[in-house]
Amino acid sequence: MTEVLFQELRPGADGRLQQVQRELVQHFGQPPAREVRDPLSQLIYSMLAVRTPTEVSEQVLRELRARYTTWDELRDAPLGEIERALEAVTFAEQKALHLKATLEQITARVGRLTLDFLAQYRTEKIRSWLQQFPGVGPQVSAAVVNFSTLRRRAISVDAHHLRVTQRLGLTPRADAATTEERLMRLVPPEWTAEQLDEHHQLVKRLGQTICVFENPRCRVCPLAGLCPTAARQRTQT
Ligand code: SF4
Repeated sequence: MTEVLFQELRPGADGRLQQVQRELVQHFGQPPAREVRDPLSQLIYSMLAVRTPTEVSEQVLRELRARYTTWDELRDAPLGEIERALEAVTFAEQKALHLKATLEQITARVGRLTLDFLAQYRTEKIRSWLQQFPGVGPQVSAAVVNFSTLRRRAISVDAHHLRVTQRLGLTPRADAATTEERLMRLVPPEWTAEQLDEHHQLVKRLGQTICVFENPRCRVCPLAGLCPTAARQRTQT
């Protein structure tokens, strides 16, 4: 009996996340391989990418790399110049301010501008260390540890992830940190950092194309059979 209870309470034991993953891979195919960046480049990218379309953030990062030979040069550039360089991303003014301050504060704390030393720390320590800097919240810190060469287990919960997991009934309405914590309780212990990255990419794609903010397209959704929101809609029509 004790063993059965343990089985039921084990993370991932209810199988919902695995089922979501299977259906999404079947529908969209395996997500393309990601460019795995060093932690500092990933931090810069992730700060730009909040609430900004992926192709725009990718383009701005390419332009920053072309313009500045090192990230030290970006840190030392005048704020107005950084603002202009980021003008295509959402909240460019605020992000420029946060990015410059974060790069300066990392340099002051570490002695030079690098995050490579983080590899020696536990995931929780890395995330709380990163979250002390302006503009770095749970979404960005999860992206740095999960998508970069650090490759740790975490889920970067963006606006798409929040919306989709709430509609699916996987998590109640909550902020990104609480949603990630609750989702991680559903994640099978054997899932690697790479599988969590795939999960993030698949859910994001669903949120961008089908489970959109207004008028989700439940009729064509591969998850309609397991989604309480779709079931409610069916009973109302
Ligand atoms: S069935 Fe509808 S509400 Fe549920 S995940 Fe799909 S699009 Fe979103």
